Amino acid sequence: YDDRDGQIWLDGKLVEWRDANIHILTHAMHYASSVFEGERAYGGKIFKSRAHSERLKRSAEMVDFTIPWTVDEIEAAKVETLAASGLQDAYVRAIAWRGAGEDMGVASARNPVRLAIAVWEWGAYYGDAKTKGAKLDISKWKRPSPETIPCHAKAAGLYMICTMSKHAAEAKGCSDAMMFDYRGYVAEATGANIFFVKNGEVHTPDPDCFLNGITRQTVVGMLKEKGIKVHERHIMPEELEGFEQCWLTGTAAEVTPVGQIGDYTFEVGAMTRDIAESYEKLVRV
Ligand code: PMP
Repeated sequence: YDDRDGQIWLDGKLVEWRDANIHILTHAMHYASSVFEGERAYGGKIFKSRAHSERLKRSAEMVDFTIPWTVDEIEAAKVETLAASGLQDAYVRAIAWRGAGEDMGVASARNPVRLAIAVWEWGAYYGDAKTKGAKLDISKWKRPSPETIPCHAKAAGLYMICTMSKHAAEAKGCSDAMMFDYRGYVAEATGANIFFVKNGEVHTPDPDCFLNGITRQTVVGMLKEKGIKVHERHIMPEELEGFEQCWLTGTAAEVTPVGQIGDYTFEVGAMTRDIAESYEKLVRV
């Protein structure tokens, strides 16, 4: 991803893609002082753009730094970067971090906070699982307690166990891993939230220790509008056996059906297909 043509927005201006580099002694590289967003543009417009910019600002505050740009300025920067890319349908990555500077210890209040935005093409996140249904591994790693880490931030540090979980899953031929939380309840996948269907009703984990995804909130609203009952609650592992359908939601994943989690199987059913289709329509309105 580093060696290509294009432009990246860095600290206030567009720079050549290959020149968007940072120093080795960047605080974020050593101590994970970094927060980011994953967004998608459809037909030249970023879906829920403002909600993403607001979450980026909030994530930074949760991990104890302030992004020196307003939400409006971040919005304008994303528009500028998307326009420069010439793309209509694209993935947008905004990232803010503590840079290199005065401090090289854990404390880094004097180092500059930096912001970058990159835009590129990113097709179906789970490839052909998008239609066939993804196969998920069950991760040995648990989503941490809110007393361990600011678990609602979209912060780099929270992704270390996601990368390890996803590597283990891929080594077993799975598309992703489902993670339990620190109490043993069903939580989420490594970059997406999870939903289940049983007897025409929807069950999804209460996001009390992980990201309440923007796509998740959109899909919950969509289900309610369709008159479908949604139970946001703690889900025990032994309940997996009784669920009929399952799907993942996320900006990158959109609505992706799940066919299997560990030894449990699910059908790619009518409700899953309907929600996936409705989401595809909504993002292009
Ligand atoms: N959980 C995790 C760990 C994620 O990385 C993502 C993707 N941002 C999500 C959930 C879904 O969030 P959203 O719908 O806001 O993209």
